[in-house]
Amino acid sequence: MADGRKGGMPMLGWWLMLVGSLRLASVWFGFFNIWALRVAVFSQAEMTEVHGRTFGVWTLLTCTLCFLCAFNLENRPLYMATFLSFIYALGHFLTEYLIYQTMAVANLSTVGFFAGTSIVWMLLQWNSHGSQAVKQASLKATVLDAGLTVVAYDSVHFDSDLPHYGTRGGVRRDPTDPARVVSSPLMWAEALELLLHRLRPRLDYARVAAVSGSAQQHGSVYWKEGAAAALASLDPAKNLAPQLAGALATPESPMWMDSSTTAQCREVEAALGGALELARLTGCRAHERCTGPQIRKMYQTRRRVYDSTERISLVSSFMASLLIGGYACIDETDGAGMNLMDIATRDLRRDALEATAPNLQDKIGKLAPAHAAAGTLSPYFVQRFQFTANCLVVQWSGDNPNSLAGLTLSDPGDLAISLGTSDTVFGITDLPEPSLDGNILPNPVDPNTYMVMLCYKNGSLTREDVRNHYAEGSWDVFNKHLEKTPPLNEGKLGYYYKEPEILPPLPVGFHRYGFDNSPSGSLDEMVEHNIDQFDPPSEVRAIIEGQFLSMRGHAESCGLPVPPKRIIATGGASSNQIILKIMASIFGCPVYTVQRPDSASLGAALRAAHGWFCNHQGRFLPVTCLHSGRLDKTSLSVKLAAPFGDSEEDIDLLKKYTLLVKKRLEIEQKLVERYGRRS
Ligand code: ADP
Repeated sequence: MADGRKGGMPMLGWWLMLVGSLRLASVWFGFFNIWALRVAVFSQAEMTEVHGRTFGVWTLLTCTLCFLCAFNLENRPLYMATFLSFIYALGHFLTEYLIYQTMAVANLSTVGFFAGTSIVWMLLQWNSHGSQAVKQASLKATVLDAGLTVVAYDSVHFDSDLPHYGTRGGVRRDPTDPARVVSSPLMWAEALELLLHRLRPRLDYARVAAVSGSAQQHGSVYWKEGAAAALASLDPAKNLAPQLAGALATPESPMWMDSSTTAQCREVEAALGGALELARLTGCRAHERCTGPQIRKMYQTRRRVYDSTERISLVSSFMASLLIGGYACIDETDGAGMNLMDIATRDLRRDALEATAPNLQDKIGKLAPAHAAAGTLSPYFVQRFQFTANCLVVQWSGDNPNSLAGLTLSDPGDLAISLGTSDTVFGITDLPEPSLDGNILPNPVDPNTYMVMLCYKNGSLTREDVRNHYAEGSWDVFNKHLEKTPPLNEGKLGYYYKEPEILPPLPVGFHRYGFDNSPSGSLDEMVEHNIDQFDPPSEVRAIIEGQFLSMRGHAESCGLPVPPKRIIATGGASSNQIILKIMASIFGCPVYTVQRPDSASLGAALRAAHGWFCNHQGRFLPVTCLHSGRLDKTSLSVKLAAPFGDSEEDIDLLKKYTLLVKKRLEIEQKLVERYGRRS
């Protein structure tokens, strides 16, 4: 049964509310009208008032369970207790009918219908209601006018708007292999069409000059032989998705969360001279999510699908292909996540192709820069939605590159830090340093520079864990601790990994150190010693300082300019001014925040304008030409949240933090040698 939703609550929740309401009626009858209870339930028995009240109070408990569970389907003990209440109820009614013969068959079928349906439904959705941490994955549309102001916005949520695809967080996990995570290209096509229908009442499509988009990086779509012809001859009188069903070699696309390709990663790395060499050649080492290892796995395990594939698209180029009615090139920025593209020349590498799968070059096709035009809108969209025939489709790109554009990062020295469930750092440089830690991609708004990206698994959830243990579960107390403790934390340094960390590759564990000397002299003078636990305020400062010191150290080692010119902070924790002040002190630059969330969608809209502008001018022009001198009048405006003071004291503090960054990385290296994975 699909996990349908209505107004945000899954259908099972609505069902439990209905059953709870019926149970509430039984409570009323039990207490105040046992005649009705007798007719409806125990028609073959004499009932006493005390029996009615006992039945009423038991039913009140089960009714409470139904209502609580309806709103907390992800709560396992509550789900289990509610499920058992139906089992007990059914068992009770069955014994009353079969053994004690106090019920007629009509009574049994009514109560049995509700208990039985609930049992089956809850069983079917046993694992479908995980923690609220699962994000609502969606396709969003942001429409900018010529002044770069948002004039329309809408979204389609995959799980709730398209429940027939059975996704959770936009993907499906293989119950037999949790490492396998897939999604459906047909769902994305249907979402695109639904989104265009939703926007239509508010938008005159004939006035749209250009369209672009953002999609999760790494996912791959396998087009079957003959799909190009199907794409070019879509019938505008019919829906999009059904016409594409026969054009795919497989209805499932592996997504970035898929981690089932460890063996293929090691094979690709070995063939190209090791992990670091692969990072030097293609921009990143082989991660399980990367498209190359994913394609290799498809070739090795589903040979028939691979052989019948005419073209492989990334999710981004798949969506652009739908819009132009033909195969769109893979965008060079998004393509850097494949382990197939030479990061310097931006061409496919023959050795990487050969290490991945045979006859791959033709299946991948050509690459194009993110600001290039993929084509014009196909007759399908022109006729179905009344766009103009010359509406430009600009290359779609990945979600992080689009966020970079939406946060207005454009030049070397611009840095963004997203403090969300996981933390992400990305910035622009013209001299990237290949490393095992970060990913290097072409800059989506300037083909002459690069984007460097670092991903941390321990972000907000780990900060929350420290808050819950040492700050009474309150951000206010957390902030008071930060204000109470001095910068540099009196030489206390902490490494907090609640989840296995990617950067550095370390297992779960908290490590705490103190120094015999404060960070003022040389590195050699700073001798660390282990500490079991700090006082609560120091724990709080240690996690915040530690996370930013790590980000700064790794950003620098990947070639991002030091100090950055500015940082744009986003994500849930960027609402915390005190955290942003510490960020400014450690990085030595001002920190800004943005006015609008959804930077990826906004960035895609900005890139559409940028691509249109370059196309119109017949050459590449910097994206800043679009908003130079008037950024604060657009929807892309940023606000200064934490200045970097340039007093002697601030500069002196920055020098000490610089020393501490080095020390932190030195200790981190020792931890990796002792506990970590460096293959
Ligand atoms: P996601 O990555 O899931 O989109 P968000 O960017 O929405 O996450 O960030 C949510 C997180 O923000 C929460 O988990 C919470 O820990 C954190 N957060 C919210 N308010 C604060 C605050 N005042 N200080 C620090 N962190 C905060």
